[in-house]
Amino acid sequence: MQNKVIIFSAPSGSGKSTIVNHILSLYPELEFSISATSRAPRGNEQNGREYWFYSEEEFRKMIAEGKFVEYEEVYSGSFYGTLKSELDRIWGKGHVIIFDVDVKGGVNLKKYFREQALSVFIQAPSVSCLRERLLHRGTDSMEAIDKRVAKAAEEIEFARGKFDFILVNEELGKAFDEADKIVGDFIRKDIRPDGK
Ligand code: ADP
Ligand code: 5GP
Repeated sequence: MQNKVIIFSAPSGSGKSTIVNHILSLYPELEFSISATSRAPRGNEQNGREYWFYSEEEFRKMIAEGKFVEYEEVYSGSFYGTLKSELDRIWGKGHVIIFDVDVKGGVNLKKYFREQALSVFIQAPSVSCLRERLLHRGTDSMEAIDKRVAKAAEEIEFARGKFDFILVNEELGKAFDEADKIVGDFIRKDIRPDGK
């Protein structure tokens, strides 16, 4: 059994959800890792579907109990983390795990899983294009968009040289094809049983 993981990271608005959902629809053997978070559910998000929702106090207790592979305070006061129990749940079915984590989380997961992991950083062609997409998506306040755009520039800088692939999402059809090729090659590739 080759326990593999695929890590997607991107600044908010780069098209990560769009690309990850497309990839999930192509490969039935892929399964999304449901993260834990201390932020409140948004819209019609459900516990155990988009996230496992906890209070900040419960989240901190789980950190102390060693329940996470990695966690980050992605936005001030909002914790997000990858639960060790998700690895057993998904690998137990013989599936490949897909992670959607922030840029620091992506770098940490790649260090943890090494050759077992494919890490992909998705980037919009420019920061101004990313702002346009967030405005067009219409799900965030102007203040939230400003925060996300400011963070994006830092994340792009931080990510440089730390991911297996950088995927520039300019024309969506091309980005889908490129993501499909990268993921398909990785799924078919043999890795050593110890994952090294
Ligand atoms: P993320 O998950 O990275 O925050 P989304 O997948 O929600 O980003 O994409 C942000 C917005 O940009 C969405 O409205 C999406 O439909 C749009 N979008 C994604 N990729 C492209 C693209 N290549 N060209 C134009 N718009 C795009
Ligand atoms: P949102 O609140 O928009 O759902 O997610 C905010 C950010 O948290 C996104 O960048 C997302 O990738 C990141 N995120 C979600 N789950 C995890 C996780 O388990 N670990 C880390 N480090 N980041 C996560």
